[in-house]
Amino acid sequence: MSFSAEQFKKQFPLFAQEENANLVYLDNAATTQKPLPVINAVRDYYMHSSANTHRSSHRLARRSTDMVEQVRDKAKQFVSAASTREIIFCRGATEALNLLAHCLCCELQPGDEIVISTAEHHANIVPWQMAAARHNLTLRYVPHIAGIPQFDQLEEVLNERTRVVSLTGGSNAIGLRPDLSVIRQLLRRMQVLWIVDGAQLAAHEKIDVQKIGCDFFVCSAHKFYGPSGVGFLYGREALLQSMPPWHGGGEMIAEVEFQQSRYADLPHKFEAGTSPLAALAGLGAALDFLARQDRTAMVEHEQRLTRWLHRELSASPNFRLISQERHNLGIVAFVPIHGSAADLMHWLDERDIAVRVGHHCAQLLGQTSGHQVTVRASVAAYNTDSDIQAFLQALDEYCEVQQLVG
Ligand code: PLP
Repeated sequence: MSFSAEQFKKQFPLFAQEENANLVYLDNAATTQKPLPVINAVRDYYMHSSANTHRSSHRLARRSTDMVEQVRDKAKQFVSAASTREIIFCRGATEALNLLAHCLCCELQPGDEIVISTAEHHANIVPWQMAAARHNLTLRYVPHIAGIPQFDQLEEVLNERTRVVSLTGGSNAIGLRPDLSVIRQLLRRMQVLWIVDGAQLAAHEKIDVQKIGCDFFVCSAHKFYGPSGVGFLYGREALLQSMPPWHGGGEMIAEVEFQQSRYADLPHKFEAGTSPLAALAGLGAALDFLARQDRTAMVEHEQRLTRWLHRELSASPNFRLISQERHNLGIVAFVPIHGSAADLMHWLDERDIAVRVGHHCAQLLGQTSGHQVTVRASVAAYNTDSDIQAFLQALDEYCEVQQLVG
C-alpha cells in the first residue's frame, strides 16, 4: 500500500484552520497533532458518557468503566502484552518512570546499581537519581563517545550488583535508536530488570514487548497522535504482582482497615484515584486510528524525510549536524555555524515553521557532546515533501542573510 502524507494530513483538523494554512510543524518529538477521531472521542466522552468508573453501578458509570477496560485491551494489543493486567494507565512516560523508580528501588539494597545512559530524557534520569539518593544506590552510565551511548558496550557497566537497566527506545534529542535485540542479548543471562523508555519509539514503530523481551515499557499518548496527560506502563505480570503499590487512595484498594489496607488486584493496584477518563477515551481512539494505518508505509515515509534532512544538512557548510542518519527514528538535530540557534528558531517561527531549540530535556547529552543547545526538527507521518522543502529553503535564506550581515 502506498502512503500519502497529504491524505493522512487531512485527518488532522488543526492543519485545516485558516491560520495554519502554511504551518510547517516539525516539533513532533515534543507532541503530535491530533486526528479528528481523537478529538471527537474526547468531546463525545463528555457529551455522552461522563461518569466516574468502577465506584458506581449506574448506566453511565458502567459505560465509562467499559470504555476504560476496552482501551486497556487496545493498549494490550498495541504493545502485544500477554494480558490486560499488564497495562497500567498513568499520566504518561514521566509518571510511569517515576512509578518504576519508586516501586523497584524501595526493594533494593544499599550499593545496588542502576544503569541508564547519557541520551536519556530527564524523565529517565531524575527519578533514578532521587531513588538512588533515598536508598543509597549507585547510578552507572552506558559508556559513551562524546555523549553518544555505545549500547553495544553496555556489558562494561553490568556487574553482580546491577539490578535495573533503564534505557531509551529512541532519543528525543538526537533520534538515536539503540538496537534493542543487542541489549536483550547482553542482558539475557543476567538477573536484571530491563525498562524501555518508549515515549518516542511507540510513534515510529509497531511495538511488540514479547519480541523486544523487556520487563517494562513506558509510553505517552500525546507522542502518537493521542491526547496529553495520559499514557501507560506495560510490565510483566509476575513483576507487577510482586511490586508494592505506589500512590495510595481510591480504586487501588480491596479493603481498608484501621492500621492497614489490602490492595486491589492488577492492574488497579497501581491506579489510585480518578483516571483522566476523557483522555483515556482519546487514547482509545488514537490506538484505533493507528491500527487502521499502514504503519510500515508511515515509517518508510518518515524515514525518507529524515534521510533527506540529514543529507541536506550534512552537505551544507552552514550547519553542524549533531544527529546521525543511521538508526534514527525521525529527528534531525543541528546548530548553525553563523548566528545562534535561538535566532534561527525565531527566523523559522516568523515563517510559520515550528521547530524546537534548547536542551530538549537531555542536558547530560548536551554536556557530554559539547552542544548544550541545538535546533531540533522532528518528523511525523503528516509531514509532506513541501514541508521539508519549505524548511530547507528557510534555512538557506537564513544563511544568506547571516553571511551578508557577517
Ligand atoms: N522519555 C522520552 C524519550 C521523551 O521524549 C519524553 C517526552 O518528551 C518523555 C520520556 C516524557 O514524556 P511525558 O512528558 O509525556 O511524560
